[in-house]
Amino acid sequence: MNYISTRDKSIKVTAAKAISQGISVEGGLFVPDTFSVFDDNDFAQLTKLDYVGRAKYVLKNFLNDFSEEEIDYCVNGAYKGSFDNDQPAPISLVGKNANLLELWHGPTCAFKDLALQLLPYLLTTSAKKVSDGKKIVILVATSGDTGKAALEGFCDVPNTEILVFYPSEGVSPMQKLQMDSQKGENVHVCAIKGNFDDAQTGVKNIFTNDQVKAKLLENNMQFSSANSINWGRLAPQIVYYISAYCDMLSRGEDLKDGFNIVVPTGNFGNILAAYYAKKMGVPVNKLICASNANNVLTDFINTGKYDRNRSFFTTISPSMDILISSNLERMLFELSGNDDKAVAAMQKELAENGTFTVSQEINEKMSQLFFGGCCDDKATIETIKELFQKYGYLCDTHTAVAMNVYKQYVKTTGDDRATVIASTASPYKFANSVLSAVSDKKADSEFQTARLLMSETGVQIPEPIKALENAKVRFNNICEKTDMLSVVYKALGI
Ligand SMILES: *Cc1c(COP(=O)(O)O)cnc(C)c1O
Repeated sequence: MNYISTRDKSIKVTAAKAISQGISVEGGLFVPDTFSVFDDNDFAQLTKLDYVGRAKYVLKNFLNDFSEEEIDYCVNGAYKGSFDNDQPAPISLVGKNANLLELWHGPTCAFKDLALQLLPYLLTTSAKKVSDGKKIVILVATSGDTGKAALEGFCDVPNTEILVFYPSEGVSPMQKLQMDSQKGENVHVCAIKGNFDDAQTGVKNIFTNDQVKAKLLENNMQFSSANSINWGRLAPQIVYYISAYCDMLSRGEDLKDGFNIVVPTGNFGNILAAYYAKKMGVPVNKLICASNANNVLTDFINTGKYDRNRSFFTTISPSMDILISSNLERMLFELSGNDDKAVAAMQKELAENGTFTVSQEINEKMSQLFFGGCCDDKATIETIKELFQKYGYLCDTHTAVAMNVYKQYVKTTGDDRATVIASTASPYKFANSVLSAVSDKKADSEFQTARLLMSETGVQIPEPIKALENAKVRFNNICEKTDMLSVVYKALGI
């Protein structure tokens, strides 16, 4: 297998090239040209393995030019010792059939850790093969969680430099503090005056600018991306859906009719990984795409028209405050039967007019695979409250959006089969909102809020969040969205 670009499938590269480059030269995204399909025998073997073993089994199907030793080195480095109880993706069963797949037991308490603990290993191993000693410069646009997870993953990784841009008004106080206090000699953090889409567009423009690339090359440097446009981010996410299936099988669950997966969605990366797991043989029935008030994807799934020309809302689930879902491009490539010309045309429409409409055929396929729903902040808070009162389970704001839309799905369809719900962050990352859902009490600081939330609910504060209280702020830079390039040059000293 090889990787091809969604906008020009005649471009064919190896895994190492796709991962180290991040994005294809003409702006397309890399996707595998073939997927392995697992059978019952594969799943029986996978079920016997621990998470590290499952990750190796799955990932070797995607890392075509990595040796067995290299895969061992990468996966062991990523998942041994960095997650609670060495279990990166445990399931909590809530009620009869809601399996909350808790993806926040890593160093930054959000699901991004599952991919970003591994990506630095994949990237540096790839760079050794294809980039002959050039320093890798990671540019990140973040709505909060990616930034911290990437900083933590790349902190002091030799021969890399990492720069993170976040929207100054678009992240929670805890997320901001997590990033601004990041340790490491090779890390740089800057807020921008704008929203996440501005940050993402800015990074993409720098990334694909030939003059900038040439200047880096003169200095023996090369850009890569830690955003979910990088295939190295998506492959690790496929693993936990396969692992969740195995865990349910070992629990003796009857999954003959398949199960549903609900994902709180922003950039469409996490839910795309769930789709790829289905493509690889996991019996997934419906993929349920949950959005907050920024419901561009809900409308797209229901109408076939993608339209970002609408108000942008800052919500209490900030990691989903996105109007341009980059990874949808990969899904469109799938649904169009790998029609690179059609995808390129749609992306051009989106860049120029902020909108595109898919063919009726694609629209039908999309609504067969996906159910789209959304909820606002008020419903999010009510869902947190209800879940806690009914089941004693405390979830964060993003997971609550997923739970709310899942309820809508069951109500609309009557389908109550087993369901996996991606729980994407610790409630303590969004402690203010979560506290307001379960208590009338208020605190003055972030950390008092966290302690109050603990005393009100009995749910422990994760260690990485506790440790932040005494962390020193190292960064308090803010720039115009038009000045991102000069921030990059300054940080790199070129
Ligand atoms: C990033 C993030 C999301 C959205 O995931 P996508 O892959 O961008 O769709 C949801 N919840 C949390 C907590 C996140 O950090």
